[in-house]
Amino acid sequence: MRIAVIGGGLTGCLIALEHAERGHDVVLFDREPALLSRASTANEGKIHLGYCYAADEGFRTAARLIEDALLFRPILERWMTPAAFEACLCDPFHYVVPNDSALSVDRITAHFARVEDHLRERRRTLGLAYLGQDEASPFQSCPPDDVAGAPLFLTQERGVWPIGIAQAIDGCVRAHPRIELRLGERVRALQPAGTKWRVGLSGPEAVADGPFDRVVNAAWAERRAIDRRSGFPAAGSWFTRYKFGVIVEQASLLLGGDVPMNTTATSGPFGDCVHYPANDSLYCSWYPVGMCYSTMDDELARRPALPDDPDALMRRTFEGCASFAPVFRRLAALPSPLPARIVGDYIIAKGWSDIDDPDSELHRRSDHGVRQLASGYWSIETGKYTSSPRCAIECVDASLGTS
Ligand SMILES: Cc1cc2nc3c(=O)[nH]c(=O)nc-3n(C[C@H](O)[C@H](O)[C@H](O)COP(=O)(O)OP(=O)(O)OC[C@H]3O[C@@H](n4cnc5c(N)ncnc54)[C@H](O)[C@@H]3O)c2cc1C
Repeated sequence: MRIAVIGGGLTGCLIALEHAERGHDVVLFDREPALLSRASTANEGKIHLGYCYAADEGFRTAARLIEDALLFRPILERWMTPAAFEACLCDPFHYVVPNDSALSVDRITAHFARVEDHLRERRRTLGLAYLGQDEASPFQSCPPDDVAGAPLFLTQERGVWPIGIAQAIDGCVRAHPRIELRLGERVRALQPAGTKWRVGLSGPEAVADGPFDRVVNAAWAERRAIDRRSGFPAAGSWFTRYKFGVIVEQASLLLGGDVPMNTTATSGPFGDCVHYPANDSLYCSWYPVGMCYSTMDDELARRPALPDDPDALMRRTFEGCASFAPVFRRLAALPSPLPARIVGDYIIAKGWSDIDDPDSELHRRSDHGVRQLASGYWSIETGKYTSSPRCAIECVDASLGTS
């Protein structure tokens, strides 16, 4: 078959590779001049076990993310060597509970215990190890003076270096003889052509490409708009946010080895940091500073421009992160230009209010995945980076009618 995949993020690239590997010809469209240049490389790479989602009383988010996380490494190792994957791994995350957390420490620790029980059970049933790691001891309480007296826990959750993963996948896509790349081409809508589909491109001179036996929409930020323009509006309310984070290069060199431990502050609009040993960079974000735009619309305005004074945004991010890792004060005090850069992209989820609302739907993130909108037309809501490999395989199984 001839298959069109819209969007060359991690999800679209894995969908293209899997279809190609099963013997089909794939045309992969991306509006950017490079693959894997948007959310799949602008995120901090946490492979979620659901510790963050204590506000989901039904536990569906954690249950779903645990399965997605268990499948992350085995699926990626269809395309990367174990050594290459291992090199992208980060140390486990600590969770700190600030005084103004939206949920109590008791509720959060009860949730952590449930996460780890569920993880243990799923590991056994599926026979899979989380990111290839041996079963770790349960979350541990750390000495209270570590972070200004706030409760702090060491968990089993880890991250990966998204750029390292992207480099490996990019190489596989480019080398695959059955994948044709169409970079710099923005898809506007998909058009039926008998039992097949054509891909309509944006731009005055653009003509529709095809026909294709299957089309897969994995465009993330523009996914719903493409579906709607093709005659399939999404159901429900969707909340789209754009979040900036900061990447500090050569962090341990800069901080004399005093790199902050990987930390997430929960529950509410706080921040996190993660160090990537593979290239000694440090990602950090502070929600009140980095969250610069939100909309309920699916037709997104131009991507928010970088601020006129990027150092000011980076300094305010460091000051926010200093509330859970005091070493960030040293970064905030460095002279300009700061040895850091801003990254950002869209975060998309069902909901109608922000995360400071404990009842927000954003605390329940379990119904992402694959939707068939018409015969031969598939639309993929990745949900999380964690879920991208599983979504990709489920999409290909569904589109080819296999399992
Ligand atoms: C700041 C931030 C932090 C995050 N942190 C985490 C985290 O720690 N852990 C986690 O699990 N998740 C995290 N996420 C979510 C995660 O990044 C996304 O869920 C995931 O990367 C989406 O992957 P994707 O392949 O679907 O999208 P993308 O990587 O964005 O790929 C979509 C591709 O489609 C292309 N495209 C868009 N429109 C068109 C069009 N019209 N025509 C052609 N091509 C088009 C884009 O150029 C892009 O390359 C975070 C997100 C952000 C923004």
